[in-house]
Amino acid sequence: GTQQRLEVNMLLLGAHNVGKTALTVRFLTRRFIGEYGAIESVYSRVDRINGQEICFNIWDSQHTQKCPSVSDKQLQWADGMILVYDICHRGSFDVVQQQLRHIRRGRKPSSLPIVIVANKRDLRRHRSVSGEEGRLLALSERCGFFEVSAAETYHGALLVFHRLVDLVRETRALR
Ligand code: GDP
Repeated sequence: GTQQRLEVNMLLLGAHNVGKTALTVRFLTRRFIGEYGAIESVYSRVDRINGQEICFNIWDSQHTQKCPSVSDKQLQWADGMILVYDICHRGSFDVVQQQLRHIRRGRKPSSLPIVIVANKRDLRRHRSVSGEEGRLLALSERCGFFEVSAAETYHGALLVFHRLVDLVRETRALR
């Protein structure tokens, strides 16, 4: 069959240093490099999933300012969001919650699929946010949830981006 190509705009949010770029680069190249410049840009990758062409447009946002606000431009652009925190930094979990509130105020709750990502699982000896807390937040906000290590595996990043595509597809089917 000739299914239509699906374009999905995905915005990565979260505090500085949580691994947004690492996750993006993992997904795009399968690699983990270690250090990334502070370049804010939109990357694209086309994949075929179950016979359908999916175009991932990924906006890796950089929040250099203290205020973790989400701009109107970002809210309007995104079909779905990936909110990342570092399991070793409770402050980054707080930022995710602030950004969720911000997003929910800006858009109707059901209209924006979100996946929450607890990153740096490889550093779990230094964990300060439990998996349970992350899962509960995701459950109460109706978001997807994955605990991953961008440093250790490609699989986690793949799951995250593919889950968001599924959520976006479900949302569009409901319209
Ligand atoms: P961003 O500011 O959110 O885009 O964060 P980066 O992707 O630039 O990553 C910040 C730092 O955390 C870098 O030094 C990365 O190498 C490191 N990092 C990212 N993901 C992981 C991970 O899963 N495990 C570990 N140990 N380090 C990570």
